[in-house]
Amino acid sequence: MAPNSADTLTGLLSRTAFHEQAGKIMQTHPDGLALIWFNLDNFKMYNKRFGFARGDELLQEIARIIVIIFQQNGEQKNLVSRFCDDSFIVLTDWSSVEINTDMIQEYLYALHNDITLRLRAGIYFPSGDEDIRLCCDRAKMACDSIRKNHSVSSCMFHNGMSRKLELQQHILDTFEGAVMNGCIRVLYQPIVNVKTGELCEAEALTRWSDAELGNISPAEFIPTLEEYREIHKLDIHALKQVCRDYRARARKGLPVVPVSVNLSRLDFELCDILQEVELAVTLNDIPRDMLHIEITESGNGEDSTVLNLGIERFRAMGYEVWMDDFGSGYSSLNVLKDYNFDTIKFDMKFLHGFDIKRSEKAKYIISSNLEMARLMGMQALAEGVETAEQYEYLRSIGFDKAQGYYFGKPMNLDEIFSPR
Ligand code: C2E
Ligand code: MG
Ligand code: MG
Repeated sequence: MAPNSADTLTGLLSRTAFHEQAGKIMQTHPDGLALIWFNLDNFKMYNKRFGFARGDELLQEIARIIVIIFQQNGEQKNLVSRFCDDSFIVLTDWSSVEINTDMIQEYLYALHNDITLRLRAGIYFPSGDEDIRLCCDRAKMACDSIRKNHSVSSCMFHNGMSRKLELQQHILDTFEGAVMNGCIRVLYQPIVNVKTGELCEAEALTRWSDAELGNISPAEFIPTLEEYREIHKLDIHALKQVCRDYRARARKGLPVVPVSVNLSRLDFELCDILQEVELAVTLNDIPRDMLHIEITESGNGEDSTVLNLGIERFRAMGYEVWMDDFGSGYSSLNVLKDYNFDTIKFDMKFLHGFDIKRSEKAKYIISSNLEMARLMGMQALAEGVETAEQYEYLRSIGFDKAQGYYFGKPMNLDEIFSPR
C-alpha cells in the first residue's frame, strides 16, 4: 500500500484510497453495488465520558467488526474505509446490505450492552457512471437523515434528500454574505399582558430574504446553522440588531418594552455568549432587565453542565432567562427540573385546535402546567394565541402573558407600538 492509503488509527483504507479503488470497481463492475455510510451516535459524549484513548479503542473495534462482517467468506472485493472521526464507509454487494448492517448493530450491542451506541447506516445504490464522491455524499445524507430518529438504524437515500442538501449548501455558502448585506433582518412579535391586554414585551425573530430563493424559513436555516455549528453567528447578529433598534427608539424618547432574543443551546459551547450580550448591551446603553434570553428545550446530547452554568451566569448578571417551546419535546419536565428559568413559554401545540367547549383534556393539561409554573415561582406565557376564545380562556385561568397572531404577527419594531 502507498504510505497515505491507510487510516493510521484503524488500518482501513484512507478516504483518498477508497475513492480511487471504489471508483475503479464502479467502472469495471457497475452492477449490484451498494455504498453504506456508517456514523456512530454520541461519539463526542463517549470521548468526554471515557477519554480519547477509550474512544480510539472503540473506533478500532468498530473497524474490526465492519471488516469481519463485510469481508467474511473471503469477500475481498468489499472495500472498507474510515473517512473521518466516527464515520466509516463500505462498498459492497447490494444483496448483503441489510443483513450485514443489522449484524453490525447486534455485535456492537452484544459487546457493550449499551443502546446509546448506535451505528447509523445510510445506504446508496450507485450506478457505474456516477462520481464516487457524489455517491458517498448521498449515502451520508441518508445516514444524517435519521440522526434524530432513534427508532431506526438504517435508511436508503431518496431524491428529496438531495434537494434538502442543496438548500443546506446554499444556506451555508451564502450565510455570512447575507448577514453583511442586510438580507437577514429582525422582526418583533408583540407579547401582551393577559390581564390588561396591553403590549408588555416583544420577541425578536429573524427573517432571511434571499436574492436567489426569496424568503428562507427559520425552520430551514436555523437547524442547518445549528448542525454546522454556525448558529452563534446568527444569534450575535440578531442580538446586535435588537440592541441597535432599541437604542434608536430610546434615544428619540419613544416608548420601549423589554425584548426577548432566541439563543441556541449551542451558543453556550460555540462562543462566550454572555460576553457578547454584555458587549452589545453596554455599547447601546441598554438596561439588562430590558433584554431577556429565550432558550428552547432539547433533550439531545449537549453538555448540560455548560448550559446550566451559562443560564446561572446570565441570571446572576440580571438577565431573565425564559424556557421556550415548553411541551414541544419529550424532555420538557426534565429540563424544568434541571435548570432555573424566570418564565415558561408554553408551546403553541397546547392551543392547536383548541375549542373551549370541547377541549377538556387540553384544558386539564394547560391549567395543571400553569399551576406547576406557579409552584416553581415562574411566570407563564402562552404562545400561538390565534383567537379571542383562546385569549379569554387564558385570562380566565390566570396566565401572565400571551403571544400569537391574534395580537400581531412579527413586524418592524416601531409597528408594535401602533394601536391595533
Ligand atoms: P419561537 O421562538 O417559538 O418563535 C415563535 C414562532 O411561532 C415564530 O416563528 C412565530 O412567527 C410563530 N408564531 C407566533 N405566533 C403564532 C401563531 O399565533 N400561530 C402560528 N401558527 N405561529 C405563530 P418563526 O419566526 O418562523 O420562528 C421559528 C423558530 O425559529 C422560533 O420559534 C425560534 O425558535 C427560531 N428562531 C427565530 N429567530 C431565531 C434567532 O435569531 N436565533 C435562534 N437561535 N432561533 C431563532
Ligand atoms: Mg422564541
Ligand atoms: Mg417558542
